[in-house]
Amino acid sequence: MAQIEITPHITSFHVELEWFKQPYPPNVFLIKDGGQGVLIDAGFGDDDSFKQRMEFLEANSDVKLKYIMLTHHHYDHSSGAQKLKEATGAEIVLHVDEEKWLLSPQEETGDFDIPEDQKELRKKAQEWREMAAKAVPDMCVEDDAVIKVGGITVHCLHTPGHTAGHLCFYVPEEKVLFSGDNVLGVGTAAIPPPPSGSMTQYVASLHRMKTVDADLLVPGHGPVVKEPQRKIQELIEHREQREAQIVGLLADGRDDVKSIVKAIYPELNKHLVSMATGQILSHLHKLQDEGKVTLEGKGPDTKVVAA
Ligand SMILES: [Zn+2]
Repeated sequence: MAQIEITPHITSFHVELEWFKQPYPPNVFLIKDGGQGVLIDAGFGDDDSFKQRMEFLEANSDVKLKYIMLTHHHYDHSSGAQKLKEATGAEIVLHVDEEKWLLSPQEETGDFDIPEDQKELRKKAQEWREMAAKAVPDMCVEDDAVIKVGGITVHCLHTPGHTAGHLCFYVPEEKVLFSGDNVLGVGTAAIPPPPSGSMTQYVASLHRMKTVDADLLVPGHGPVVKEPQRKIQELIEHREQREAQIVGLLADGRDDVKSIVKAIYPELNKHLVSMATGQILSHLHKLQDEGKVTLEGKGPDTKVVAA
């Protein structure tokens, strides 16, 4: 565990999770000024994470925690929220379009794609979702809402894509943009197909994020990014290239999701098939939104018809 100072007003509460299989556990940050503070995301709700985060807060005992602001509902960011709220009295803040997803733990919404045969892990994920759903928001905000922390401000930017009510948080006084899971420190974010995610909205959100006057991008997973605009532009281009690849395969006569997934990811590990299918479906939904194709059927069996 480590407290890492990102700016004089922003600290990362980093907790290592041995059981977490991905390389980058969820990030949790404290923004503080003038004796007040907010957390950006809450991380996992396991006892060890909770204990360590409370130790961090105790080390910042001059700070009165006002809010726990969630970038989105996925359980790796939200399942710790209720316990932290009970311990500190801070209020939970979420975007209005995200509330129903947080409060519907039975839905799988692209938080993590756990293969059908990994029963233990799937059971665990369900428990996380149920824990996350206890974090009933005290305040549901809309785009451009501003939260004051002492003398600095946290601006809520509705940036849907990874989820429907995803928020980025911008602190203009520090020129810092918290990007949630829309932009990660390393790699590309997973964008689930509608209704929980949207590639159409995601690309629009990236364009909006690129216009923010930020010197530092602070992601939901992985290290901070020093050239936010360049990183965001790379992701925009990555999506454009992927879309062009799919359009090319459709022009060559491929007309179902399975064969497109095979062509784009020829060496795919079977555990990643459903995640890859979700990514391709998201791109196809974007093409459908633009009137370029029509989709028939569901999931991997979706057929693509030229519009
Ligand atoms: Zn997420």
